[in-house]
Amino acid sequence: MIAPAITKSLATPVQRDYVSWSAISTYQQCPLRYYFRYIEGLEETFTSASLALGGAVHSAVEHHFNELMVGNPAPDHDTLLNAFWDGWRSRAETAAIQLGKGEDLDSIGKTADRVIAAFRASEFAQPQGRILGVEEELRSPLIPGLPDILGRIDLIVETDEALKIIDLKTARTRWSTEQAERSGEQLMLYAALAKDLVPGKPIQLEFAVVTKTASPVVETLPVAWDQRRIDRTQRVMAKVWSAIEAGSFFPAPSPTACPTCPFRTECEAWQG
Ligand code: SF4
Repeated sequence: MIAPAITKSLATPVQRDYVSWSAISTYQQCPLRYYFRYIEGLEETFTSASLALGGAVHSAVEHHFNELMVGNPAPDHDTLLNAFWDGWRSRAETAAIQLGKGEDLDSIGKTADRVIAAFRASEFAQPQGRILGVEEELRSPLIPGLPDILGRIDLIVETDEALKIIDLKTARTRWSTEQAERSGEQLMLYAALAKDLVPGKPIQLEFAVVTKTASPVVETLPVAWDQRRIDRTQRVMAKVWSAIEAGSFFPAPSPTACPTCPFRTECEAWQG
């Protein structure tokens, strides 16, 4: 396959009229991967089983909270397992799922079974307060000079004390409180997007982390609301956008990102 030549001094940023956290963080991880995905619009022809599993867990959790939000009882285990496999299949239809060493559909199914059991038994699955949104898209012209910022928030819950903004992560190992704090930029952006959702109510930020281990653990980890960090996150996004508009694309090889990158062939052929 011939790699696309990048001859323009100025890139034509995405056709979309918005920019997401996911796009910005893709650029931060590897500018060339961003180029292939968001400028050239190349299809991701494969995805890792780890990403597909995480996405399918999101589908099951989304179904669970959607039912609670409309006042229905919590779905049973098999219903969530079906939602998991629906999510898995929808990913398999758009990109080949690359199973890892020793993985097969049977082992994926067993992991899903354990994760769903742990999720249903967790406090996270029974939130106190009123669910206001599940996979809720918030959009706002938040940062001058950028298109609208679009955030998809996994779960929004209103309690008497606060508005909780929760992002779900699936992980190989448990997160420490420090790791949650370090990863908090995404939540800072969501805090800025949600600031007028319930005027006057303080915002609490949390990661819900589900491990894909032999004995899965489901934990919620708070991230401190911090106006200075919120402002900094927006300034970083503005800098990244400037680099994108200037057409600054180059590979940023990494032993963790490259093996699962769907654009390895294009990347190897790319000559700058
Ligand atoms: S293979 Fe690695 S360096 Fe190349 S585009 Fe993908 S992530 Fe970037």
